[in-house]
Amino acid sequence: MEASNLSKILYIDLSNKRYWIEDRSELFKEWLGGVGVGIKLLQEECPKNIDPLSPESPIIFCIGYFNGIYPLASKTIALFKSPLTKNLGESHAGGRCGVAMRMAGYGGIVIKGSSEKPIYLVISNEGVKFRDASALWGMNSSSTVGRIIREREAGAGIRAIMRIGKAGEKMIPYACVNTETFRHFGRLGLGAIFGSKKLKAIEIFGRNSFKIFNPKDYRSIYDEIYNAVIKSGAMKKYHDIGTSMNVLPLNNTSSLPCKNLQFSKFEGAEELSGENLAEKFLGRRAACAHCPVSCIHIAALRIPYENEPYFYKTKMIAYDYEPIYSLGCMLGIKNPEGFLKLLDIVDELGLDAMSTGVILAWATECMEKGIIGIKDTNGLELKWGDYENYIKAVKKIVDMENEFYEALANGVEYASSIYGGKEFALAYGGNEMPGYHCGIATHIGFAVGMRHSHLDNAGYDIDQKINAEKKIVSIEEIAKMIFEEESWRQILSSLVVCFFSRKVYTPEVISRAFSAIGINITPSDLKEKGKAILKEKYKFKIREGFSFDNIRIPKRVTETPTPQGILKEDDIKKGIIEYKRLIEVEN
Ligand code: SF4
Repeated sequence: MEASNLSKILYIDLSNKRYWIEDRSELFKEWLGGVGVGIKLLQEECPKNIDPLSPESPIIFCIGYFNGIYPLASKTIALFKSPLTKNLGESHAGGRCGVAMRMAGYGGIVIKGSSEKPIYLVISNEGVKFRDASALWGMNSSSTVGRIIREREAGAGIRAIMRIGKAGEKMIPYACVNTETFRHFGRLGLGAIFGSKKLKAIEIFGRNSFKIFNPKDYRSIYDEIYNAVIKSGAMKKYHDIGTSMNVLPLNNTSSLPCKNLQFSKFEGAEELSGENLAEKFLGRRAACAHCPVSCIHIAALRIPYENEPYFYKTKMIAYDYEPIYSLGCMLGIKNPEGFLKLLDIVDELGLDAMSTGVILAWATECMEKGIIGIKDTNGLELKWGDYENYIKAVKKIVDMENEFYEALANGVEYASSIYGGKEFALAYGGNEMPGYHCGIATHIGFAVGMRHSHLDNAGYDIDQKINAEKKIVSIEEIAKMIFEEESWRQILSSLVVCFFSRKVYTPEVISRAFSAIGINITPSDLKEKGKAILKEKYKFKIREGFSFDNIRIPKRVTETPTPQGILKEDDIKKGIIEYKRLIEVEN
């Protein structure tokens, strides 16, 4: 397999401010790129049982063959050891990073070591520059950091700027990395690792070019993919309303977790629906580089100055389904303006919106049940719908104002191990639960998934189909569907294409798209490769202490009805055992 210009890996040592480039074409030939190459680099670079926040803990960014070449191949993957779960950390972001890395000439970037003083990196096809970031450290807003770097550095129009906020600086284990203002490496705490390395930001840009092996075939398959994307009804929905189009259907089928999953239906669903947000607040849409869909929805929120009548600032806030679930429905917030204000502060501080919302929902239920009181919260009453107090609570978490907020800053698994309320602490494998309660496949999927995320295997999607068709499907069949989907997603994550285009990028289309760039790989080879990559990832996960045999299933999941009724813990466990059998990794 020809590796083209993808084979260069840029290694950066922050402790000694040096970098070097290695040709690793053998890795790209065998493992494609993205998560495939990323997991091999992580196995090489991450010492067993290492503290994720220690200097030797690596950050790995990877892209794949399709980045910068085909539509919607717009993502970059990050692999690391998660400070939240103490296991495999994997996060994907759109924006411009994928194309910027390709244009800078790197298929992967490995960052190790730690700087004494805050720094930011400027990466281009000319190498790496180490810049002093002392003046940026401690800044309240991550978007201001982006603006300053844009003014100081070259690369306008073709660059990506990743940066952390205050949460990352303080190494909160669910701090995220923001890129291009409206996209994130959101889950599992990459921001905390940046913070531990005193790495405030990374700018990437480049002006490389490369030849396409067979321009005629390339044009033909490119057009086929492009036309399939723009003519697809599903893509039109992503463009019109974005992922927040999920709110009403999930609510209508009692699949929408609300108030810490005490309910699966929310009385404020209409107000927080994508339709309502678009009608009342949509300011503009944005797209990741090389994507004609443009699904990123950005609300324009006019905020009056406190003591100046007729003066307003307009905040632009990107929203989608996941934060609506976690910072809206889970907290009982019906007021869309209140939800947007809360999302804005979470974003500015650089926290993962999903973890933050789930943690606050747990804390609210603890207060409701008298497990904690206002002594613990420093006088702050946490109650459903009170977005103003939630905004205050988020700031207190980042400041780790007292022992209670410090516990919240360490995630819901940890906080519940100190204060109790474990039965309604919604986390799988230490990662706060995503926003779906559609049935048994959803929860088997969260339990076994590599990141314990809805994106790993889309168990919720399997449930939605089963529910719509009113089918009876055995647990064995469900485990198989989850396994097949998670295996196939390793290919999409190795190329690296956006999951929203998964119905367009079929094995046959991918095989032909490879052939146009001079690489021969059959649809069945691709499927086998997906399974092999998945296995490599589980090997790392098991090496770091994961076991299929002791996954905690939060009791709350089996108390609140799904469209399939009340789930049984034993059935979820059966699905986990079946999945373990399919993956065939020693445990
Ligand atoms: S569909 Fe949306 S998330 Fe996916 S690449 Fe396009 S703009 Fe980015």
